[in-house]
Amino acid sequence: MKTYRDIAAALALPRGALIDGDWLEPGADTFASLDPFTGAEIARLPACGLPEVDRAVAAARRSFEAGVWSGLHPAERKGILCRLADLILHHAEELAVLEALDAGKPVADCLGIDVPETAKAIRWHAEAQDKLYDQIAPSAPNAVGLIVREPVGVVAAVLPWNFPLMMLAWKLGPALATGNSLVVKPAENTSLSTLRVAELALEAGVPPGVFSVVTGLGGVTGEALARHMDVDAITFTGSTAVGRRILEAAAQTNLKEVCLEMGGKSAAVVLSDADQIERIAAIQANAIFWNMGENCTANSRIIVHKDRHDDLVAALAAQTADWALGDQLDEGTRLGPLVSDTHFKKVTGLVDRGKAQGARVVTGGQGAGGLLFQPTIFADVSAEMDIFQQEIFGPVVSVTKADSDEEAVALANQSDYGLAATLYTRDIGKAHRYARKLRAGTVGVNAYSEGEISTPFGGFKASGFGGRDNGIHAHDQYTELKTIWIDLDG
Ligand code: NAD
Repeated sequence: MKTYRDIAAALALPRGALIDGDWLEPGADTFASLDPFTGAEIARLPACGLPEVDRAVAAARRSFEAGVWSGLHPAERKGILCRLADLILHHAEELAVLEALDAGKPVADCLGIDVPETAKAIRWHAEAQDKLYDQIAPSAPNAVGLIVREPVGVVAAVLPWNFPLMMLAWKLGPALATGNSLVVKPAENTSLSTLRVAELALEAGVPPGVFSVVTGLGGVTGEALARHMDVDAITFTGSTAVGRRILEAAAQTNLKEVCLEMGGKSAAVVLSDADQIERIAAIQANAIFWNMGENCTANSRIIVHKDRHDDLVAALAAQTADWALGDQLDEGTRLGPLVSDTHFKKVTGLVDRGKAQGARVVTGGQGAGGLLFQPTIFADVSAEMDIFQQEIFGPVVSVTKADSDEEAVALANQSDYGLAATLYTRDIGKAHRYARKLRAGTVGVNAYSEGEISTPFGGFKASGFGGRDNGIHAHDQYTELKTIWIDLDG
């Protein structure tokens, strides 16, 4: 029987950047994509500089002005994007293996979650677009005021490595559905699935130039997009530090629209009346260990009322046995390698700081060979510790004891970030009251909620800026509102 490693070995990998419908093969400036489990080089891609970015942006502008995409009836764009979603599902196994190989994500997750969710997100936005109406303003009978939404024009998307396909879909779906032309820069560790989707988009009927992919390094290719005078909007998912840079670049150049989805330090709050501790432990293990904790909404802090503390810590520790570590291309693996050596060192460094600052290791606390990292639970964590405040982006959760429900919610809010939160209570009044008090873009009550494609996703505070992904609200970042005022007596 063929293993996923056999399938990976037989894959025809994307061979360059994809600009204006053409492959740009690697030239003098290249970078490597590595398999984080074996360390082997799997692809060498062009490190695009300003000339390549200029070409992609010019092609996007040309296609936008020509109306080959922006000028289609929304139902025509819907048809083509739904065909792309179908093609993604048709190539599900190939895309899942590509994603796993490149990012270190367990192949079972890629097959069961990432690929179908990618197709779903693209289809959702495509399906929505031909059901939206514009508005007419109140006016005297001799005038008509139209309030219309128009595509913003040329959109740049800069993507992270943790959910390469899904983050692409969250940007591509609404950007293309609303009629824009798009230039995508995937993260340097994980370009392959984006390139394959761009190829499938051409096959689905997206015209050349409407969706280009420039591969390359953040400080060069990403920066060139952020500073480009002919990019009308930039949408970004990644770290808060890079998000700030992109905002600065936009301010210093053409004041392009900016939407930033950034880091998180999301808390799960377990109130005094919470029951079903085993269930909570299972949900919270998933909320931190899924995707190796390389998840912006990972619940990396648990704040638990003192009456529930000991039971919860024991139940959570028992959960770690279910998280098998190993080769991301083994079907049974739930925790693959961390994405890179640099990232592994960052995670290890923060875990060591946690130990040095007096937190108690309940389970895990170290690497497990190569770039694998043990699922790790810290207890006795206080709000001053680095592991309480800083995003670790690994399979590491800190548990903090609170004396009261009020203190638990206050501790949850004691963070520079505000992406997501989880709340456990059986009391409907507390559920509503505390869900409103939690300063986060998404609050899951009695469930870990990453959100659904139909609901907006984004962060408060240093987690988000300028708009939301997902839901119809995502269309705001890719459209401009225009007023057209017509004097009927004129
Ligand atoms: P990162 O910020 O290092 O990189 C993200 C992207 O930005 C990459 O494509 C990178 O090449 C590019 N980049 C780097 N420097 C740049 C620059 N100067 N100008 C323009 N682009 C530049 O983030 P990462 O390490 O890839 O991803 C992890 C981070 O992403 C975490 O902080 C995580 O919380 C966040 N994230 C947020 C969400 C969300 O929706 N809020 C989702 C997933 C990940």
